[in-house]
Amino acid sequence: MFGLIKKYRRRRLLERSIPELWIDAVTEHLPIVAYFSPPEARGFLSHLKILMWEKLWIGAQGFELDEHTKVTIAAQAARMARGLPLSVYDRHSEFVVYGEDFVHPDDELPGPVHGEAHHFGTVVLSWPAVQEGLRYPCRGYNPVLHEMAHILDMSSGYFNGTPVLHHGSDYKPWATVCQYYFTAMRDHPEQSFLDLYGAGDESEFFAVATEAFFELPEIVSHEAPDLFAELRRYYGIDPMIIPCDCESHESPEDGDYEEVGYPLIPPPDPLDNPFF
Ligand SMILES: [Zn+2]
Repeated sequence: MFGLIKKYRRRRLLERSIPELWIDAVTEHLPIVAYFSPPEARGFLSHLKILMWEKLWIGAQGFELDEHTKVTIAAQAARMARGLPLSVYDRHSEFVVYGEDFVHPDDELPGPVHGEAHHFGTVVLSWPAVQEGLRYPCRGYNPVLHEMAHILDMSSGYFNGTPVLHHGSDYKPWATVCQYYFTAMRDHPEQSFLDLYGAGDESEFFAVATEAFFELPEIVSHEAPDLFAELRRYYGIDPMIIPCDCESHESPEDGDYEEVGYPLIPPPDPLDNPFF
Protein backbone atom coordinates (compact mmCIF):
# COMPACT_ATOMS: atom_id res chain seq x y z
CA MET A 1 0.00 0.00 0.00
CA PHE A 2 2.72 2.43 1.01
CA GLY A 3 4.62 1.47 -2.12
CA LEU A 4 1.62 2.44 -4.24
CA ILE A 5 1.29 5.83 -2.55
CA LYS A 6 4.98 6.48 -3.07
CA LYS A 7 4.69 5.50 -6.72
CA TYR A 8 1.72 7.82 -7.20
CA ARG A 9 3.48 10.72 -5.43
CA ARG A 10 6.61 10.21 -7.48
CA ARG A 11 4.67 10.15 -10.71
CA ARG A 12 3.03 13.46 -9.80
CA LEU A 13 6.39 14.90 -8.80
CA LEU A 14 7.99 13.90 -12.09
CA GLU A 15 5.24 15.66 -14.02
CA ARG A 16 5.99 19.01 -12.38
CA SER A 17 8.06 21.51 -14.32
CA ILE A 18 11.25 22.84 -12.78
CA PRO A 19 11.96 26.43 -11.77
CA GLU A 20 14.13 28.56 -14.08
CA LEU A 21 16.65 28.88 -11.26
CA TRP A 22 17.52 25.19 -11.57
CA ILE A 23 18.47 25.63 -15.23
CA ASP A 24 20.65 28.62 -14.30
CA ALA A 25 22.44 26.66 -11.55
CA VAL A 26 23.01 23.61 -13.76
CA THR A 27 24.24 25.75 -16.67
CA GLU A 28 26.67 27.52 -14.35
CA HIS A 29 28.04 24.56 -12.41
CA LEU A 30 27.52 21.51 -14.59
CA PRO A 31 27.84 22.56 -18.25
CA ILE A 32 28.40 18.92 -19.19
CA VAL A 33 24.60 18.47 -19.09
CA ALA A 34 24.44 20.22 -22.49
CA TYR A 35 26.29 17.21 -23.95
CA PHE A 36 23.86 14.57 -22.66
CA SER A 37 21.88 12.52 -25.16
CA PRO A 38 18.07 12.99 -24.88
CA PRO A 39 17.61 9.76 -22.81
CA GLU A 40 20.46 10.77 -20.50
CA ALA A 41 19.04 14.29 -20.09
CA ARG A 42 15.63 12.82 -19.23
CA GLY A 43 17.22 10.50 -16.64
CA PHE A 44 19.16 13.42 -15.23
CA LEU A 45 16.05 15.58 -14.94
CA SER A 46 13.99 12.87 -13.23
CA HIS A 47 16.73 12.11 -10.70
CA LEU A 48 17.20 15.81 -10.07
CA LYS A 49 13.50 16.26 -9.24
CA ILE A 50 13.53 13.29 -6.88
CA LEU A 51 16.67 14.49 -5.10
CA MET A 52 15.35 18.04 -4.78
CA TRP A 53 11.77 17.28 -3.83
CA GLU A 54 11.84 13.91 -2.04
CA LYS A 55 14.94 14.29 0.10
CA LEU A 56 15.30 16.29 3.26
CA TRP A 57 17.84 19.15 3.03
CA ILE A 58 19.43 20.49 6.21
CA GLY A 59 21.93 23.30 6.61
CA ALA A 60 24.17 22.42 9.57
CA GLN A 61 25.43 24.84 12.21
CA GLY A 62 23.47 27.75 10.80
CA PHE A 63 24.54 27.29 7.18
CA GLU A 64 21.89 28.83 4.97
CA LEU A 65 21.09 26.23 2.37
CA ASP A 66 19.49 28.09 -0.53
CA GLU A 67 17.89 26.65 -3.67
CA HIS A 68 20.95 27.36 -5.83
CA THR A 69 23.24 25.43 -3.47
CA LYS A 70 20.81 22.52 -3.28
CA VAL A 71 20.48 22.26 -7.06
CA THR A 72 24.25 22.45 -7.45
CA ILE A 73 24.66 19.45 -5.16
CA ALA A 74 21.66 17.46 -6.44
CA ALA A 75 22.69 17.96 -10.08
CA GLN A 76 25.96 16.13 -9.48
CA ALA A 77 24.17 13.19 -7.88
CA ALA A 78 21.67 13.21 -10.78
CA ARG A 79 24.51 13.32 -13.29
CA MET A 80 26.01 10.10 -11.97
CA ALA A 81 22.63 8.32 -11.77
CA ARG A 82 21.28 9.46 -15.15
CA GLY A 83 21.59 5.96 -16.62
CA LEU A 84 20.31 4.17 -13.50
CA PRO A 85 16.74 3.33 -12.38
CA LEU A 86 14.90 6.02 -10.43
CA SER A 87 14.91 3.82 -7.32
CA VAL A 88 18.70 3.75 -6.88
CA TYR A 89 18.78 6.47 -4.25
CA ASP A 90 15.73 5.18 -2.35
CA ARG A 91 17.82 4.30 0.70
CA HIS A 92 19.11 7.85 0.78
CA SER A 93 16.97 10.15 2.91
CA GLU A 94 18.71 13.48 3.55
CA PHE A 95 21.55 15.84 2.80
CA VAL A 96 23.20 17.66 5.68
CA VAL A 97 25.41 20.47 4.40
CA TYR A 98 28.01 22.35 6.44
CA GLY A 99 29.21 25.81 5.47
CA GLU A 100 32.77 24.71 6.19
CA ASP A 101 34.80 21.53 6.49
CA PHE A 102 33.72 19.85 9.70
CA VAL A 103 35.62 17.95 12.36
CA HIS A 104 34.26 15.15 14.52
CA PRO A 105 35.54 15.27 18.07
CA ASP A 106 35.38 11.47 18.32
CA ASP A 107 36.65 10.66 14.81
CA GLU A 108 39.51 8.21 14.41
CA LEU A 109 40.78 10.22 11.45
CA PRO A 110 42.34 13.55 12.35
CA GLY A 111 41.56 16.65 10.32
CA PRO A 112 38.49 18.09 8.65
CA VAL A 113 35.97 15.94 6.84
CA HIS A 114 34.74 16.79 3.33
CA GLY A 115 31.83 14.37 3.27
CA GLU A 116 30.31 11.27 4.81
CA ALA A 117 27.65 8.74 3.92
CA HIS A 118 25.80 6.87 6.65
CA HIS A 119 24.10 3.50 6.41
CA PHE A 120 20.81 5.03 7.62
CA GLY A 121 20.72 7.19 4.49
CA THR A 122 22.24 10.54 5.46
CA VAL A 123 24.86 12.21 3.30
CA VAL A 124 26.90 14.92 5.00
CA LEU A 125 28.83 17.39 2.84
CA SER A 126 31.10 20.37 3.30
CA TRP A 127 30.04 23.11 0.90
CA PRO A 128 33.62 24.41 0.37
CA ALA A 129 34.69 20.85 -0.53
CA VAL A 130 31.77 20.58 -2.97
CA GLN A 131 32.87 23.85 -4.60
CA GLU A 132 36.46 22.66 -4.78
CA GLY A 133 35.29 19.55 -6.63
CA LEU A 134 33.35 21.67 -9.12
CA ARG A 135 36.25 24.04 -9.72
CA TYR A 136 38.37 21.19 -11.10
CA PRO A 137 35.97 18.85 -12.88
CA CYS A 138 38.76 16.82 -14.47
CA ARG A 139 40.82 15.81 -11.46
CA GLY A 140 39.00 12.84 -9.98
CA TYR A 141 38.13 14.63 -6.74
CA ASN A 142 34.45 15.23 -6.15
CA PRO A 143 32.87 14.73 -2.70
CA VAL A 144 29.32 14.51 -4.09
CA LEU A 145 30.23 11.72 -6.53
CA HIS A 146 32.20 10.02 -3.76
CA GLU A 147 29.48 10.07 -1.09
CA MET A 148 26.67 9.23 -3.49
CA ALA A 149 28.72 6.27 -4.71
CA HIS A 150 28.66 5.06 -1.09
CA ILE A 151 24.86 5.42 -1.16
CA LEU A 152 24.68 3.35 -4.36
CA ASP A 153 27.02 0.83 -2.77
CA MET A 154 24.71 0.62 0.24
CA SER A 155 21.74 -0.23 -2.02
CA SER A 156 22.85 -3.84 -1.52
CA GLY A 157 22.49 -3.40 2.26
CA TYR A 158 26.23 -3.15 2.95
CA PHE A 159 29.15 -0.87 2.29
CA ASN A 160 31.17 -3.50 0.45
CA GLY A 161 32.03 -1.94 -2.91
CA THR A 162 29.26 -3.76 -4.78
CA PRO A 163 25.98 -1.97 -5.43
CA VAL A 164 22.90 -3.84 -6.69
CA LEU A 165 23.95 -4.76 -10.22
CA HIS A 166 21.53 -5.10 -13.11
CA HIS A 167 21.82 -8.83 -13.78
CA GLY A 168 22.87 -11.83 -11.75
CA SER A 169 25.56 -12.52 -14.33
CA ASP A 170 27.14 -9.10 -13.66
CA TYR A 171 28.40 -10.02 -10.19
CA LYS A 172 31.18 -12.41 -11.09
CA PRO A 173 33.06 -10.17 -13.55
CA TRP A 174 32.47 -7.18 -11.25
CA ALA A 175 34.00 -8.97 -8.26
CA THR A 176 36.93 -10.33 -10.27
CA VAL A 177 37.84 -6.99 -11.83
CA CYS A 178 37.33 -4.81 -8.75
CA GLN A 179 39.25 -7.24 -6.54
CA TYR A 180 42.13 -7.26 -9.02
CA TYR A 181 42.55 -3.47 -9.06
CA PHE A 182 41.89 -3.10 -5.33
CA THR A 183 44.60 -5.63 -4.55
CA ALA A 184 46.96 -4.06 -7.10
CA MET A 185 46.43 -0.66 -5.46
CA ARG A 186 47.26 -2.10 -2.03
CA ASP A 187 50.27 -4.07 -3.25
CA HIS A 188 51.71 -1.39 -5.55
CA PRO A 189 50.42 2.00 -4.41
CA GLU A 190 53.19 3.76 -6.30
CA GLN A 191 51.73 2.51 -9.60
CA SER A 192 48.11 3.36 -8.89
CA PHE A 193 46.23 5.53 -11.37
CA LEU A 194 43.47 5.98 -8.78
CA ASP A 195 43.50 8.06 -5.60
CA LEU A 196 45.10 5.96 -2.87
CA TYR A 197 42.23 6.74 -0.55
CA GLY A 198 40.58 3.85 -2.37
CA ALA A 199 43.01 1.40 -0.78
CA GLY A 200 41.17 1.80 2.55
CA ASP A 201 38.59 -0.89 1.81
CA GLU A 202 36.37 -2.14 -1.03
CA SER A 203 33.78 0.54 -0.41
CA GLU A 204 36.32 3.36 -0.69
CA PHE A 205 37.72 1.70 -3.79
CA PHE A 206 34.31 1.84 -5.49
CA ALA A 207 33.82 5.49 -4.44
CA VAL A 208 37.25 6.54 -5.72
CA ALA A 209 36.85 4.53 -8.94
CA THR A 210 33.50 6.26 -9.48
CA GLU A 211 35.08 9.72 -9.12
CA ALA A 212 37.73 8.76 -11.67
CA PHE A 213 35.22 7.13 -14.04
CA PHE A 214 33.25 10.36 -14.30
CA GLU A 215 36.09 12.88 -14.12
CA LEU A 216 39.03 11.02 -15.68
CA PRO A 217 37.39 8.59 -18.11
CA GLU A 218 40.33 8.63 -20.50
CA ILE A 219 42.75 7.59 -17.79
CA VAL A 220 40.53 4.81 -16.44
CA SER A 221 39.76 3.44 -19.92
CA HIS A 222 43.45 3.55 -20.80
CA GLU A 223 44.86 2.10 -17.59
CA ALA A 224 42.09 -0.36 -16.76
CA PRO A 225 39.77 -1.06 -19.72
CA ASP A 226 38.10 -3.95 -17.90
CA LEU A 227 37.33 -1.81 -14.82
CA PHE A 228 36.08 0.93 -17.13
CA ALA A 229 33.79 -1.60 -18.85
CA GLU A 230 32.32 -2.79 -15.53
CA LEU A 231 31.64 0.77 -14.38
CA ARG A 232 30.14 1.68 -17.74
CA ARG A 233 27.83 -1.33 -17.61
CA TYR A 234 26.74 -0.47 -14.07
CA TYR A 235 26.23 3.27 -14.58
CA GLY A 236 24.60 2.67 -17.97
CA ILE A 237 26.34 5.58 -19.67
CA ASP A 238 29.56 6.47 -21.37
CA PRO A 239 31.27 9.16 -19.37
CA MET A 240 32.65 11.88 -21.56
CA ILE A 241 35.36 14.47 -21.60
CA ILE A 242 34.26 17.26 -19.36
CA PRO A 243 34.13 20.73 -20.82
CA CYS A 244 36.05 22.88 -18.40
CA ASP A 245 38.37 25.83 -18.32
CA CYS A 246 40.93 24.62 -15.78
CA GLU A 247 44.34 26.08 -16.42
CA SER A 248 46.00 22.78 -15.71
CA HIS A 249 44.60 19.29 -15.59
CA GLU A 250 46.64 17.65 -12.91
CA SER A 251 47.02 14.02 -13.74
CA PRO A 252 47.78 11.58 -10.97
CA GLU A 253 51.11 10.39 -12.32
CA ASP A 254 53.17 11.64 -15.20
CA GLY A 255 51.17 14.49 -16.72
CA ASP A 256 50.58 12.54 -19.90
CA TYR A 257 46.95 13.46 -20.25
CA GLU A 258 46.86 17.15 -21.13
CA GLU A 259 43.71 16.77 -23.17
CA VAL A 260 41.68 15.60 -20.19
CA GLY A 261 39.01 18.15 -19.43
CA TYR A 262 38.43 19.53 -22.90
CA PRO A 263 35.42 18.69 -25.01
CA LEU A 264 36.14 16.84 -28.21
CA ILE A 265 33.02 18.16 -29.90
CA PRO A 266 31.14 21.42 -29.43
CA PRO A 267 27.96 21.09 -27.35
CA PRO A 268 24.88 20.25 -29.39
CA ASP A 269 22.04 22.71 -29.71
CA PRO A 270 20.35 22.91 -26.28
CA LEU A 271 16.99 22.84 -28.08
CA ASP A 272 17.66 19.16 -28.70
CA ASN A 273 18.25 18.58 -25.00
CA PRO A 274 15.07 17.91 -23.01
CA PHE A 275 16.60 19.41 -19.87
CA PHE A 276 16.82 22.94 -21.25
ZN1 LIG B 1 34.48 7.30 1.22
